[in-house]
Amino acid sequence: MPVLVMKFGGTSVATLDRIRRAAKRVGVEVAKGYDVIVIVSAMAGKTNELVGWVGETSPLYDAREYDAVVSSGENITAGLMALTLQEMDVPARSWQGWQVPVKTTSAHSSARIEEIPTENITGRFAQGMKVAVVAGFQGVSPEGRITTLGRGGSDTTAVAFAAAFGAERCDIYTDVDGVYTTDPRVESKARKLDRIAFEEMLELASLGAKVLQTRSVELAMRYKVKLRVLSSFEEQSDEAGTLVCGEEEIMESNVVAGIAFSRDEAKMTLVSVADRPGIAASIFGALSDGGVNVDMIVQNIAEEGRTDMTWSCPVDQVKRAKLAMDKASASGVINFSELIADEDVAKVSVVGIGMRSHTGVAAKMFKVLSAEGINIKVITTSEIKISVLIDRKYMELAVQALHDAFELDKVA
Ligand code: ADP
Ligand code: ASP
Ligand code: MG
Repeated sequence: MPVLVMKFGGTSVATLDRIRRAAKRVGVEVAKGYDVIVIVSAMAGKTNELVGWVGETSPLYDAREYDAVVSSGENITAGLMALTLQEMDVPARSWQGWQVPVKTTSAHSSARIEEIPTENITGRFAQGMKVAVVAGFQGVSPEGRITTLGRGGSDTTAVAFAAAFGAERCDIYTDVDGVYTTDPRVESKARKLDRIAFEEMLELASLGAKVLQTRSVELAMRYKVKLRVLSSFEEQSDEAGTLVCGEEEIMESNVVAGIAFSRDEAKMTLVSVADRPGIAASIFGALSDGGVNVDMIVQNIAEEGRTDMTWSCPVDQVKRAKLAMDKASASGVINFSELIADEDVAKVSVVGIGMRSHTGVAAKMFKVLSAEGINIKVITTSEIKISVLIDRKYMELAVQALHDAFELDKVA
């Protein structure tokens, strides 16, 4: 039997009624002759609640216990989905990550999947089971502890299962009907894309478009998984949604494919550090040891042997960053006069593989922002993207102005 992977995100399983609706979709595919692997997220809001409880209990929590708590939302929906399917006379069974087992690294709260043995589930399919419901987002470490794959990780569970089982397709059911030129909640003129290239989706995801977890796109690209994003709220044809595919499968595209943003950023500046070889290694080594995910980095011009070092990181890691710098300073690894944190910034990025062959995108982006009176604080670029850090209060304005200027509401 051909295998299909269907993943339902939090809003798609937010209530018993929605679980029933999703189960009906699964029933349709079973009737077509597929063995289906259903990956479920926790009910909408559940994971946030669990994360909140952990933070309230222990601000600098032990990541192993974070995972023990935060993974639990998916256990509930997996069981409920299996029960709902059984009520519809569809033979179904649920699996938690450790039961499969989804083997991961031991990097708690952001573990990577290393292996998914298929025998267990394949054996059940051979005995007549039609649907394996798997709790997304979770796995088990070599030490036998529960791990989670980072926020949005059920997407990655889904793609990893599709690759492991050689699934015909991996369908990601969510609360929008596909991948748009930008988040339709921020720009109402955002346009749904029929197709998007893996590399563009990878950039958009890593720059903040949470419609797919970055790692899921990486895996789909590596294992050539046919990945589709579609709405769980509408009747669907086989052509619905957005197909994430190789760029050679896309006929036409705009130079800029989409705009991504990341709201909760912080800009930190270490004032007056010694300008000597090894200083960057000392600073960023200490930040990395302290669990800080540094994104953009700027080293300013040196004067009299001293310089300022600026970086950006998620705003909820500012405390960790301060702690790491204080520790490094106390142990004499670095010395500085001041650490300034600007906690009110956001990152806006334009992405498109067309930038490889078209010049002028950066200039246009900066001009558009300047026309709106928006000051750019940090800039980074790569072959197919340009990112700027700006005041958070201008984020929506920047996204809308750029969407207009690059005419993303129109097909090229
Ligand atoms: P799920 O719970 O199904 O995993 P998510 O909330 O993780 O859903 O992702 C879907 C959301 O991603 C949408 O509701 C939308 O607001 C947001 N989003 C951000 N960027 C985009 C984009 N370019 N296209 C579509 N949705 C996007
Ligand atoms: N429930 C997890 C989260 O909210 C995983 C997921 O939904 O993909 O991050
Ligand atoms: Mg998600």
